[in-house]
Amino acid sequence: MQQERKFMEGLCRERNIDLEGLRFLLSTEDEKIIAELAKRARETAQSIYGKKVYIRGLIEFTNHCKNDCLYCGIRRSNCNADRYRLTKEQILSCCETGYGLGFRTFVLQGGEDPYFTDERICALVSAMKSSYPDCAVTLSIGEKSRESYQAYFDAGADRFLLRHETANKEHYRKLHPPEMSLENRKRCLRDLKEIGYQTGCGFMVGSPYQTIETIYEDLMFIRELKPEMVGIGPFIPQQDTPFGNQKAGTLQMTLRLLSIIRLMHPHVLLPSTTALGTIHPQGREMGILAGANVVMPNLSPVDVREKYRLYDNKICTGDEAAECRYCMQKRMENIGYEVVTERGDYIQ
Ligand code: SAH
Repeated sequence: MQQERKFMEGLCRERNIDLEGLRFLLSTEDEKIIAELAKRARETAQSIYGKKVYIRGLIEFTNHCKNDCLYCGIRRSNCNADRYRLTKEQILSCCETGYGLGFRTFVLQGGEDPYFTDERICALVSAMKSSYPDCAVTLSIGEKSRESYQAYFDAGADRFLLRHETANKEHYRKLHPPEMSLENRKRCLRDLKEIGYQTGCGFMVGSPYQTIETIYEDLMFIRELKPEMVGIGPFIPQQDTPFGNQKAGTLQMTLRLLSIIRLMHPHVLLPSTTALGTIHPQGREMGILAGANVVMPNLSPVDVREKYRLYDNKICTGDEAAECRYCMQKRMENIGYEVVTERGDYIQ
């Protein structure tokens, strides 16, 4: 018992964890400890953000990708993927709908699609910023040169999400094709921070070959980078990928890691992800109750939702933006939280 207290107190007071503590918190079956971990994380989030949940409108604008990440359903080798890209007009129309629904952050997410040159991305960002100057634009478009990141930033982009996926070199190699490297991923994240983006890294929980040790390295990498956002969600197999027969990450593991990350980084913007909602019908609510404070409903046109299939059984693929928005509001109200229509920037 002494030992268990020590881990929890260390996490709450020193905002840090060691490998032994992580192993304990991820494997204990003591319901009391598990409940206390979530409670402390939730209270930490509430002390900064109250019972507010920020919403981000996710626009999945292209599923073309030049990369071949082994876990991802839109990898270039997947010839079963039905490829699409949205036009500028379609993207702006998603924003218009979203703005009317109270979204003040738009997230442009996509594969690494060479059609979207820097020029096109900059044109999109500046069109979005001039039509909606009170909104934040977040990009999630993968690895680019520092110059490209700078150009998007100068065009008005505010935030950038680039999960590091794993901070362990060997693990990274097992998840990615040989031409990708952890080194470059980290270079990207450092560039993004230095340029001045609110930056998000993160990883999948339960990805193939992940161990407690690699998760520990993830946590140490996050501690060193000090990102404004951290995106984590369970790995879910996609049948047309080499990992199609692997096991999905678990709800318990994801929730515990959300809590640990919240306790290590009290101010961080932490989404309760769609993947979490996919592995359990109340996954996103549980994520908020474990310390998350952001949700990202889908604003993509309904006819492309099904095609942006990073993993199987993704939820909400048939729903209009408005349905997703109000469904989310109800879900959050049910657990005593409030979806707010603020930009929801990082609070220092
Ligand atoms: N091309 C962009 C966006 C990638 S999709 C980029 O490289 O950042 C966003 C995230 O979805 C990825 O970073 C990955 O962590 C997650 N993802 C991909 N495939 C997944 C799967 N099978 N299960 C769960 N999450 C997945």
